[in-house]
Parts: sequence; structure tokens; C-alpha cells
Amino acid sequence: MLLTSLRDSLRNLAHYALDFFLPRLCLFCGEAVEPQAAAPLCPACEARVVRVQSPLCPRCGRLFLNRAGPDRPCGFCLKEPPPFAAARAAVVYEEDGLTGRAIKQFKYYRRLEYLPLLRHWLTEPACLEFAAPCDLIVPVPLHRRRLQERGFNQALLLARGLPGRVLRHTLVRTRHTQPQTGLNPRARRENVRRAFAVRGPEAVHGQSVLLVDDVYTTGATVRECSRALLAAGAREVRVLTVARVAPPGFRAG
Ligand SMILES: [Zn+2]
Ligand SMILES: [Zn+2]
Repeated sequence: MLLTSLRDSLRNLAHYALDFFLPRLCLFCGEAVEPQAAAPLCPACEARVVRVQSPLCPRCGRLFLNRAGPDRPCGFCLKEPPPFAAARAAVVYEEDGLTGRAIKQFKYYRRLEYLPLLRHWLTEPACLEFAAPCDLIVPVPLHRRRLQERGFNQALLLARGLPGRVLRHTLVRTRHTQPQTGLNPRARRENVRRAFAVRGPEAVHGQSVLLVDDVYTTGATVRECSRALLAAGAREVRVLTVARVAPPGFRAG
């Protein structure tokens, strides 16, 4: 018995020693990653990730299919400006690419080893600069039921990677909504209409709020969140997401 537990202890010790000496591996291809690298991502995979870059709409962050010319307001914002002051993302969301895989593995399969990578993207210099004017950070909330299913709120874990005060319980989801995935833009708007409320509006009154989420798809969710925050007295809302869905046919470069 004693011998068995001694053997187990030695085996555990060997495992720890291996973990310590083994190189960090890229989450996507398994290549060794420099020990001082900010995220478990090799340079070759990093190079395949498409960054959100100009030209885009300075208001909603929409990427233009025509990759020439300067930033300019998009037709949607000219017609009906969104309630938030501006929205930006770090990387382009590619459903079958690295960014899609990282977000889905993290969110739906609870693979928390992807969190440092997502935070690494979210805290790139352009994102920090975008977040700088804000007084506080509010993650897009999950409904209690979804939180129980998933075990964590991905937006909250991402928000905590940013410098600044995170208000965890201020913005709440007042009703359970079906997942936005698979819904068309109109159905997405309907699905989240009046689904959010602010508890303790004094916390956001007169403040510039940074609203954080994992992916910006049609913007229906962050629009509704922004409306609730502004109705509660927030001075302005800026939206920051890790990834952004590009219009169909988008090609980087
Ligand atoms: Zn790799
Ligand atoms: Zn726009």
C-alpha cells in the first residue's frame, strides 16, 4: 500500500517535471512555441490570423469589401447610426479558420487554454488605444440559465484581461433568449429586443462604458446592451470584441 502510494507520488512528480521542461506547444499545429511568447501560437499560425484593419467604418467597425481607400462611414451607419459611439475588434472571425476554432473551443467546449490567446488578441495595442477613453468595463451578460449550462461567461473572462474596472453584475439579461447562431439579422434583432437591463444605474451614470464580447456578428446584441446602458445614464458606450464577422466575400489584403 505504502509502496503503491510512493510509486504514485513519484509518477506525479515525473509528470510535473515533464510539464516544466516540455516546450509550450502551438494550440493549432503543435509546433513548439518560444517560452517568452505572449500566447501559445507559433509564428506560422499567427501569420494566418487576419487582423481587423482599415479601411473600415469608424462608427460600427464594418470592414469594407473594397480594400482600397480610407476609413469612411458605412451605408448602414449613415442611414441609422447605432446607439454605441464606436465598435472595434482585434481579428477577423473565420468560421473554419483559427479565430473561429479558438472561440468555439473556448466557448462551447470549455477549453480554457484558449483564453490567454483570446486575451492576447483583445489587448493588442490598437484595442487598448480604443479602450483607453473608457471609465469602466461591462461584459455582455449571459442569462442565468445559459451561465449554468456553460459554467462561465466568456465575455467576463475576456473583460478581466483588460486593464480597468470590470462591472460584473450591472448589466443583466432579463430573459432567456435562444442562441443567435443560425438566425438571420432580423430574427437576431427580435430575439434580443429588450433582453437587457441595468441594475444599479448609478454605477454607469455619466460614465464612458467599454462593452466587451467575444464576437461581433450583426451587432444586434451589443446594440441592445448599449441601449440599456445609455437609458441608465451612461455617457457613451464603446464596443470591443475579440473577433468580427466580415461581410460575405471579404478578402484580406
Ligand atoms: Zn502553429
Ligand atoms: Zn458603420
